[in-house]
Amino acid sequence: MALIVQKYGGTSVANTERIKNVAARVARHRENGDRIVVVVSAMSGVTDGLIKMARDLMPIPTEREMDMLLATGEQTTIALAAMALHSLGVPAISLTGAQAGIVTDGVHTKAKILNITPKQVHAMLDGGHVVIVAGFQGQTSEGHITTLGRGGSDLTAIALTAALKADLCQIYTDVDGVYTADPRVIPNAVKLDEIAYDEMLELAGAGAKVMQLRSVEFAKKFGVIFEVRSSLNDNPGTIVKEETRSMEDVVIRGVSLDKNQAKLTVVGVPDRPGVAAGIFKALAGAAINVDMIVQNVSHGAAKPVTDVSFTVDKADLLKAQKVIQGLKPEIGYRELLTNESIGKLSIVGVGMRSHSGIAARLFETLAGQEINIDMISTSEIKVSVVIDLAKAEAAARAVHAAFLE
Ligand code: ASP
Ligand code: MG
Repeated sequence: MALIVQKYGGTSVANTERIKNVAARVARHRENGDRIVVVVSAMSGVTDGLIKMARDLMPIPTEREMDMLLATGEQTTIALAAMALHSLGVPAISLTGAQAGIVTDGVHTKAKILNITPKQVHAMLDGGHVVIVAGFQGQTSEGHITTLGRGGSDLTAIALTAALKADLCQIYTDVDGVYTADPRVIPNAVKLDEIAYDEMLELAGAGAKVMQLRSVEFAKKFGVIFEVRSSLNDNPGTIVKEETRSMEDVVIRGVSLDKNQAKLTVVGVPDRPGVAAGIFKALAGAAINVDMIVQNVSHGAAKPVTDVSFTVDKADLLKAQKVIQGLKPEIGYRELLTNESIGKLSIVGVGMRSHSGIAARLFETLAGQEINIDMISTSEIKVSVVIDLAKAEAAARAVHAAFLE
C-alpha cells in the first residue's frame, strides 16, 4: 500500500468536467489500495483573473490582502474536487494549506515554507480519506495566509511529499512529460523517460517552463523523486531525479529556445576598474535580472574603451535602459543600443561533463544554416547562444536534428 501525492495543475482542473476526470483517476488509484494526497491549483485563469481585479483597485495591491485573495482560487478547487469524489462514493476531505500544517515565513506573495506538520493529513489518511490540499498557500506562525509565488502548487506537492515521506509524487499537467524540446516549435521532439534535476533546472532557466523552478530546486535539495505526466491520458511521464552514471551516456538531453530576452549594448565604455561593477550594481539595485554578459576586447591605446553587452527579460528592457542612461554622466560611454529581436538557444545535458566538442558541434550546425552567433555563454552542462530572432526557430530545429534525431 503506497502513499502517493498527486498534484493537478490549473488546466487539469479547468472546469467541472475535468475535475470529474481527476476524481475518477484518484478513485482508480484508491481501488488499488493506495493512500492518496491530492494537491490542486486554482482552475486555469482564476489566479490571473483575481490579480486583474486587485489591480483595478490598486496598481500595486497590498500584499497581505493579495494573498488572502489569491488563496481563494485553490480553496474553490479543493472543495469542488472533494465533492466530485463524494459523488463517486469516495470518502475525501479538503484542507487549506494552513490546515495541512504548512507554515511559511511572512514574505507575502512569495513566502518560503519553514516547516510542515501534517498532523491532520495523517489523521484523515488513517481514517480512510483521500486528502485534498490547496496548493500554493500556507500560513505564518501568527496565522496570516501566505502564497508561495506563481506556480507554487508544484512546491506544495514536492514539500508535502518530503514531509509525509510519501512513496511517489506525480505532477499531472496538460503535456505528457518533459520533452527534448518544445513540440510546438520542434515537431520531432520526443518525451524523455527521465531527466536529472540539474538538467530540468537549466532547461527551465532557458525558457522551457514545465514546472516552477523553485520546486525543482526544493526537490533536488531534499531528494524528492517525482514524475511529470498528463492528466488527459494514461501514458507514463518523465521521472525527475538525481543524476545517475548512465544519464551521461546521452550527450544532450534537450534544446530550448527563449524568445523573451532583449539585448543591451553599452558602446564605448572606458576600460578601467570598477566600470562593470558600476553598471551591474545599478541594474541589481533596480531588481533587474541579468542573464548573459559579454565584454569585448578593448581598443584605443591611450584611452582604451570597450563594449559591454548583456541580456535581460524583455519586460525589464525599458527599466534597464533608464538605469543605463542614468549612468551616462558618471561613466561617460558613447551610446546605448538595444535589440529585442533576439532568441537564446540552449543545449543542455549532464553528458557534457564527459563528452568533448559539443560546443564546436553546435557552432558548426549554426554555421551550416548561415546563422550568425551574437553572444555565447556556457556552464558545466549547458551551452547557450544568442541569435537573430527571425532565424531562431529554424536554428532550434537544425540543432535538435543534429543532436537528438
Ligand atoms: N494558482 C497559482 C498560479 O496560478 C499557483 C499554481 O497554479 O501553481 O500561479
Ligand atoms: Mg500552475
